[in-house]
Amino acid sequence: MNQAFQPFTPQARTLMGPGPSDVHPRVLKALGQTTIGHLDPQFVQLMDHVKTGLQYALKTQNPLTMAISAPGSAGMEACFVNLIEPGDKVIVCQNGVFGGRMRENVLRCGGQAIMIEDPWGQPTDIQKVADALQQHPDAKALAFVHAETSTGVRNDAKALCALAKQFDCLTIVDAVTSLGGIELAVDDWQIDALYSGTQKCLSCVPGLSPVTFSQAAIDTIKQRKHPVQSWFLDMDLVMGYWGEGAKRAYHHTAPVNSIYALHESLCILHEEGLENAWQRHQTLHNALKQGLEGLGLSLLVDEQYRLPQLNSVVIPDGVDDALVRSRLLNEFNLEIGAGLGALAGKIWRIGLMGYACRQDNIDYCLDALGKVLN
Ligand code: PLP
Repeated sequence: MNQAFQPFTPQARTLMGPGPSDVHPRVLKALGQTTIGHLDPQFVQLMDHVKTGLQYALKTQNPLTMAISAPGSAGMEACFVNLIEPGDKVIVCQNGVFGGRMRENVLRCGGQAIMIEDPWGQPTDIQKVADALQQHPDAKALAFVHAETSTGVRNDAKALCALAKQFDCLTIVDAVTSLGGIELAVDDWQIDALYSGTQKCLSCVPGLSPVTFSQAAIDTIKQRKHPVQSWFLDMDLVMGYWGEGAKRAYHHTAPVNSIYALHESLCILHEEGLENAWQRHQTLHNALKQGLEGLGLSLLVDEQYRLPQLNSVVIPDGVDDALVRSRLLNEFNLEIGAGLGALAGKIWRIGLMGYACRQDNIDYCLDALGKVLN
């Protein structure tokens, strides 16, 4: 019998890597509901509810808040292709993998990327950004990653945005790993364009990218000299689809069931309370850290800018990185992440994201690690 045509039944895993993370059972249940038309009045109403839920999670009143029908990388592109035109200067902070992708986006929009680089494992140096803003008063935007998933570092989004505003510069923020896991306040911090993902601290399935745009960002889009080069991600067109209910026009077929899933995950977040969710990530990070130290392991990132939801664990000398991860996966059905780029072979990345951020997962992970390392 050809295996390709056999039903696929995955072995369940505990997902404690950099994402996707464990999906909440209620979200999986919501996903499996009957599919309805994407212009069905019931679905149109659900889109409004999802918008309200995202506004809650992002702490924003921005009317242009929605989920792009594609993963976080598409949300990233949506922000850049709409705001950046050929010749625009963008200050891009890089202290890990994802700042590098922002640079790629700027270049592909025909823009000029002014890079502020800091070592992987360290936060973006605010003074360097201040100097760059001073040297480049014509910079259109400052772009940075709030929670750098490749290293476990939290960049100071509030301070970076405040600085950008002093120079009348737009802000583009990657919140793929931060949303739902650490403090994030779009309106208070004056973030102009932000993208996230559903597969991390929202406990939802991968494949959607929440985004939000401020009025200043919308004005910038409206004043563009060139049409947005991407038809699918042109926010002017997408707005017609995610806009106010009655005016909704066909743009593309929304991933209907995934939107059910996102809605359910936002309901769960609201039930817990956003601030309580942030606190849970911090409290359980402390428990994980203590347990790791008990195993003789240490964390790469200093406590003051360490992400609770992404723990970079230094691999002890002489330990076979790949063997440990494969034994965890094969013997314990536990996924943790490898290091990326400059940190490949040097760290493991243990995620505590959303529904995966639970004491029983921490106990399970510590027990498994202890057995594999001894
Ligand atoms: N930005 C950050 C910080 C991420 O961690 C990721 C994915 O891990 C992305 C962007 C890209 O998101 P996706 O893989 O959903 O396209």
